[in-house]
Amino acid sequence: QAKMSRPVQARRLEGIEKNIWVEFVKLAATYSTVNLGQGFPDFPPPDFLKEAFVRVLSGENHMLHQYTRAFGHPPLVKILAQYFGKLLGRDLDPMTDVMVTVGAYQALFYCFQAFVDEGDEVVIIEPFFDCYEPMVKMAGGMPVFVPLRPKAPKDGKLMSSADWQLDPAELASKFSERTKAIVLNSPNNPLGKVFSRGELELIADLCVKHDVLCISDEVYEWLVYDGKEHIRIASLQGMWDRTVIIGSAGKTFSATGWKVGWTVGPNRLLQHLRTVHQNSVYHCATVAQEAVAQGFQRELELYGKPESYFIQLPKMLQQKRDWLVQSLDAVGMKPIIPEGTYFLVADISEFKSDVPDVPDSDEPYDSRFAKWMVKNKGLAAIPLSAFYCGAHKNNYNHFIRFCFAKEEATLKAANDILQRWKLEKTSP
Ligand code: PMP
Repeated sequence: QAKMSRPVQARRLEGIEKNIWVEFVKLAATYSTVNLGQGFPDFPPPDFLKEAFVRVLSGENHMLHQYTRAFGHPPLVKILAQYFGKLLGRDLDPMTDVMVTVGAYQALFYCFQAFVDEGDEVVIIEPFFDCYEPMVKMAGGMPVFVPLRPKAPKDGKLMSSADWQLDPAELASKFSERTKAIVLNSPNNPLGKVFSRGELELIADLCVKHDVLCISDEVYEWLVYDGKEHIRIASLQGMWDRTVIIGSAGKTFSATGWKVGWTVGPNRLLQHLRTVHQNSVYHCATVAQEAVAQGFQRELELYGKPESYFIQLPKMLQQKRDWLVQSLDAVGMKPIIPEGTYFLVADISEFKSDVPDVPDSDEPYDSRFAKWMVKNKGLAAIPLSAFYCGAHKNNYNHFIRFCFAKEEATLKAANDILQRWKLEKTSP
């Protein structure tokens, strides 16, 4: 029988075959490392959430093992509508203004499929969560990139993620009649930047002026530090009508494997996400949705109280952040102090002599550095260039991203590796 000879790959997959997570997760597994690479906690989700899942699985209501409503299990969309209604100060209809997805990843995919036509431009702020670019391309759209530019901190202080800012004129220059949407990710992965009200107003004004949609990835909404406030762009003047808010139970309840995500927005936008959903996935796991609904019920009852997980989790993570900041600073791998998220970006310049540059290499320096580090030091992190488009990968190629949502023992093990490395460098 003759083998197939015609090309099988659809054109829309051209150029997006490689994926940083597939590559680095495999490397971390191969070299049995201290893994501060991929963004997931290695500590357990809160007891109340695990208990809810067990109750749901083994309880009387065996219908929870069956299909539920396609656009979101009713108890979950109801509680999300209540919770986000409170946060946004508006009445939300659980049946039309909220939809449940398989993680925030799927919510993002739906937005691009639902809103982006062939040739439409989508503004993406660099550095960005890497899947935005291929998702825009798969929908036939054109990503247009605008960078956050670092400003040197004063008096030799450590840099903060707040020092990375948009140039207002540069941002404005990216908007035109071809612009369909902007993707905003605040708190931002990888920098940990929490956009200020002024920065959000700048973006909102451009969205309104050019009649552009805002896809607002807020998966780290509860993970903000130092008393900073997470401001929802949908709450700004003129933005509710044009914004889809995306969230994730994975990050919210430290259970990334559950893959429960959601979208919140006006029916006029969400109706198109429902069209993609009903014609692709149709439905997300009922048991996980029910358990997340119970988690949110508890959180609504404890809203703003010290026992609330949404208060306790950032407190705990801020300590871990501070610990890793101190550990990296002590060895000379200069950290950029993040205002939010699981992540911290650090400058590897002082360690460059151990991993010499290869002139004219196609691979950005930070990527070779991160691979070398996992193989030779047993420590996994992600190169910052992974969060830039192809043309800009060498603009900021001397940084790596660490995830600090880890047990104390994991962070200590990372610290030991760094200390030993530093000692080897300095001893004759
Ligand atoms: N958006 C951002 C900014 C993320 O960092 C992640 C997870 N790393 C996602 C979306 C995807 O979230 P989920 O695991 O819920 O699909």
